[in-house]
Amino acid sequence: MPGKLKNCPMCGKIFADMGTHVCRDCYAKLQKKESEVVNYVRDNPNSKIPDIVEATGADEKMIKRMIREGRFVQVGVPITYPCKKCGAPITQGELCARCMTEMRENLQKETAKITAAKQAAKMARGQGMHSMREQGNTFKAKPKW
Ligand SMILES: [Zn+2]
Ligand SMILES: [Zn+2]
Repeated sequence: MPGKLKNCPMCGKIFADMGTHVCRDCYAKLQKKESEVVNYVRDNPNSKIPDIVEATGADEKMIKRMIREGRFVQVGVPITYPCKKCGAPITQGELCARCMTEMRENLQKETAKITAAKQAAKMARGQGMHSMREQGNTFKAKPKW
């Protein structure tokens, strides 16, 4: 796919987007900034996002993206940031392990509920047919009385 011409969101220059979303110059700058951030974090393992922003001048959004991508885990210095749901410190993704489990369990419960409802509906249908047959039997049995 040939690059689409567009304005670089960082410097405004027109460039062919090859999947980097910014122009080549800015991409190189970003790469440099990212390695700066990684280096800073490696040197200061207990730094928090605001520290990194202040020290490297990097964008907070960029750091968060890097965290999500597991960039700091890769170099062995997991940076913690609050879980989207409960605020517990996490190093990767959007949610902490507990919220992830909770979410998965809720999902399973929901699925189970739906399955149970489906089964109940099926059983109700089956029972309906059954009672109809019974009615038929009683009907057939009636002349005997
Ligand atoms: Zn640019
Ligand atoms: Zn959480």
